[in-house]
Amino acid sequence: ELPPSSEDPPEEYPTGWVHLSSGKVRELYQPAPGSSWDGQDVVLMVASDRISAYDHVLSTPIPDKGIILTQLSLWWFDQLEAAGISHHVVSVDVPEEVAGRAMICRRLEMVEAECIARGYLTGSGLAEYRQTGAVTGLQLPEGLRDGSALDEPIFTPSSKAAQGDHDENISFETLTETVGVDLAMRLREATLRIYSLAESTCRAAGVILADTKLEFGFDAAGTLTVADEVLTPDSSRFWPAESWEPGAAQPSFDKQFVRDWLTSSESGWDRSSGQEPPALPEKIVSATRARYLEAYERLTGTELVF
Ligand code: ATP
Ligand code: MG
Repeated sequence: ELPPSSEDPPEEYPTGWVHLSSGKVRELYQPAPGSSWDGQDVVLMVASDRISAYDHVLSTPIPDKGIILTQLSLWWFDQLEAAGISHHVVSVDVPEEVAGRAMICRRLEMVEAECIARGYLTGSGLAEYRQTGAVTGLQLPEGLRDGSALDEPIFTPSSKAAQGDHDENISFETLTETVGVDLAMRLREATLRIYSLAESTCRAAGVILADTKLEFGFDAAGTLTVADEVLTPDSSRFWPAESWEPGAAQPSFDKQFVRDWLTSSESGWDRSSGQEPPALPEKIVSATRARYLEAYERLTGTELVF
C-alpha cells in the first residue's frame, strides 16, 4: 500500500462505489463489493468541475461544469439512441453525492483512438492545413481560412496519449495500423454519421458544430459503442451561427474562450515554458460558465435547473 498523496482522489467515494481511475476531468468508479451493482460490468462516471486546456488541468474549477456536461451528454445520448446508435449509458440513478454529474455506464474496452469529425477548419486542423495543405493526410482545397466550412465533413483521428502527453493527429493509414482496417473504417463511418446527425440538430438551434471528438469502446458482447461524453463544449466547438464569418477566430460557446485567455498577454503564461498555467480570474470563470450554460440551453431548448 502506498501512502496517500495529494494526487489521490477524494477519500470519500460515492456510496456503493470504489475508485477505479482518474482522467483529467472525470473519475471512474466500480461497484463496491456487496453493493446493488456488484457483479455487473458497469462503471460510475463522475464529471468534476475541473477544466483542462493545452493538456493541463487548470487549478481553477468552473462551477457546475460537471453537471452541465453530464446533462448535455445525456440529452445527446437520447438523440443518438433514437437514431439507433448504441451508447454506454445504463442508468442515471446515481448516488446523491454526485447527483446530476454522474452516469452509470457499461464498462467498455476502450478503442485507443480519439475519433474527430470536422465540418469546419480551425484549431489543430487549421494549423496542419497551413503547413501542409492537408489535415491528417486529407488534401483540402486551397484558400481556406480560419472557420471556413469544408465541402464535406472529414474524419481526422488522433492518438489517445497517456496522461500528461499530447494527443496527436494521425492519418487514417496510421489508425489502420493501430486498430486494423476493418475497425478504422467502422470508426470513420460511425463518427461521420454522428457528426452529420448532430450538425443538423445544432444548425436547427442556430449553432454551428465546427468539430467534435468521440470515443468508442466494445462492450462484453463485442458491440461497438459510443462512450465517454458526447457533443459537449469540452469535446466540441460550438459557434453561434448568426455571427459566423470565416477569416478569424469565431466567437464560441466552448473552451476556446479559456484557451484564448491563457495564450493572451493578460495571463502572462508561456505555453511552451512547460510551467503550469495560472489560475483563472473570476471574470473568465463566470464567462466560461455562462458559455457552457448557453450551449446547453440553445441546444436542448430548456433551462438547466440546479
Ligand atoms: P485520459 O483518460 O486520457 O486522462 P481524459 O482526460 O479526457 O482522458 P476524462 O474525460 O477525464 O479523461 O475521463 C474519462 C475516462 O473514462 C477516459 O479515459 C475515457 O476513455 C474513459 N471512459 C469513458 N467511457 C468509458 C466506459 N464506458 N468504460 C470505460 N472507460 C470509459
Ligand atoms: Mg475526456
